[in-house]
Amino acid sequence: MLHINRPVQESAREAFQLCTSTKVGKEQGRILSGYEESIVKAAETFAAACTASALHSLDRRAFRPNPPDKNHTTALIGLYDRRLRDKEYPGRPLYDRIRNAPGKCPLCGIGRIKQVDHHLPKAHYPFLAVVPDNLIPVCADCNTIKLDRFPATGGEQSLHPYYDDIEDQLWLRAELLVQPGPGPLDWRVRYFVDPHHTWGEDLADRVRFHFDAFELDSLFAKQCADELVTVGAALEEVFLAGGAGDVRAELASLMRFRSKPRRNNWMAALYRALANSHWYCEGGFRDIAAG
Ligand SMILES: [Zn+2]
Repeated sequence: MLHINRPVQESAREAFQLCTSTKVGKEQGRILSGYEESIVKAAETFAAACTASALHSLDRRAFRPNPPDKNHTTALIGLYDRRLRDKEYPGRPLYDRIRNAPGKCPLCGIGRIKQVDHHLPKAHYPFLAVVPDNLIPVCADCNTIKLDRFPATGGEQSLHPYYDDIEDQLWLRAELLVQPGPGPLDWRVRYFVDPHHTWGEDLADRVRFHFDAFELDSLFAKQCADELVTVGAALEEVFLAGGAGDVRAELASLMRFRSKPRRNNWMAALYRALANSHWYCEGGFRDIAAG
């Protein structure tokens, strides 16, 4: 759930013209050129809806041939499948610049960027097939999860990495859950969205929806096990020197350190949760590190 700048500067018209600049048959060229203005208009409508968090209210008929035409829809979707993504076609450098965007996947904040995702699926919004604002660099897992989903309600709008920016507000929290009992220690870290006090209910719903749709609780929780083994060994020394109070201070220091440059990340949330756990600071770190 990271905010990033759009990796390419091209407008919707420039992207369309690049994709149709060469290797277009006469019939395909005739079909596609008839849609240039519709695509430019659709891109403007889409951008305005992203700014207003109103993607759910878009009329899908304004984003596809009207009246419906299967051949034309196939040609429009083919703008992406062939003319942007195919190595033999002129749009490929644009595709590569999006796919090679630096940093982590903006949808989960963890995965390696490997693919390009349509924020609104091209199958349902063919006019947005090669609109740069609709093309997001993502990891393979997030792309698989998303598939052809589109929002039916305001709360079902996943976050758009170019338009939505919630990084300055602390919203990611975690808690350490320990189940006492005989046998091996039963523990897990649970991650959840704690809506910032400045958010309205709509934004809170969207962030929760995004968090659940991309299964971020389980993704973040899986990262914790190795980290807790490593930090457990270090905390033993701290505990021997100064007891639970020093352990808590050390964890708070790690939390501050991990909060840079982005405060809503799984490690910062983990250390905040550990510092708040009386059980962990009193020696529980030892039990978890021992497995
Ligand atoms: Zn991802």
